[in-house]
Amino acid sequence: MSTESLRIVWVYPDLLSTYGDRGNALILARRARQRGLPIEVLEVRSDQRLPATADIYLVGGGEDGPQALGAQRLIADGSLHRAVAQGSVVFGVCAGYQLLGNSFFAKGTKCAGLELLDITSDRGETRAVGELTGDIDARLGIPPLSGFENHGGRTHLGPDVSPLARVTAGVGNDGASEGAWRGKLLGTYSHGPALARNPALADLLLRWATGIHQLPPLDDTWSDRLRSERRAAVAAARA
Ligand code: GLN
Repeated sequence: MSTESLRIVWVYPDLLSTYGDRGNALILARRARQRGLPIEVLEVRSDQRLPATADIYLVGGGEDGPQALGAQRLIADGSLHRAVAQGSVVFGVCAGYQLLGNSFFAKGTKCAGLELLDITSDRGETRAVGELTGDIDARLGIPPLSGFENHGGRTHLGPDVSPLARVTAGVGNDGASEGAWRGKLLGTYSHGPALARNPALADLLLRWATGIHQLPPLDDTWSDRLRSERRAAVAAARA
């Protein structure tokens, strides 16, 4: 932790917040406070300078135009690169995931990414919309991913990153793998408040940020029920 309280930055809520991305900040803050960890959440708009000393940066989803603008401003700002060099955690969702990579397409144009993750996104022939589930990389030690995706791009992973999950329903990166991670950077196509549906993923980010390996367990009955319900619905739809 950089200071006496955990600092979370929600990056550019004016551009990158298509699917209730605020939920990810709320979940992290709640789960930290329930463990007695002091936490502050800063919302930094795209016309403001990003602090380079926060513990966790949340980069959300967005339509093509805001995504391209967000990437340009983050590259010009440079603070996210400095934060990553100092060991900060970054969680990217959909557009926010794509723009962490080498390049992505927005409105038919190839755009430069931040080159923080070794991924490249191009255009898919169809839009991937619907439930997204997958078995998460065993090294991360968390239960299967359950989420919702809505994206046109397809993402290809380079040798410097690992897939977050193996797809069991939906498309993710390319129909086979979903998301990517390296060090304390993690991106997913699972949308919006992905952390509400995947509390273990929220705790993984908190563990990375605090260095606390054993966070006290919380009552996740409701999110567990929702995840089981959605997984059963996906299984029923495929039967
Ligand atoms: N514009 C990107 C795509 O369609 C990301 C969309 C999103 O964040 N939902 O691939």
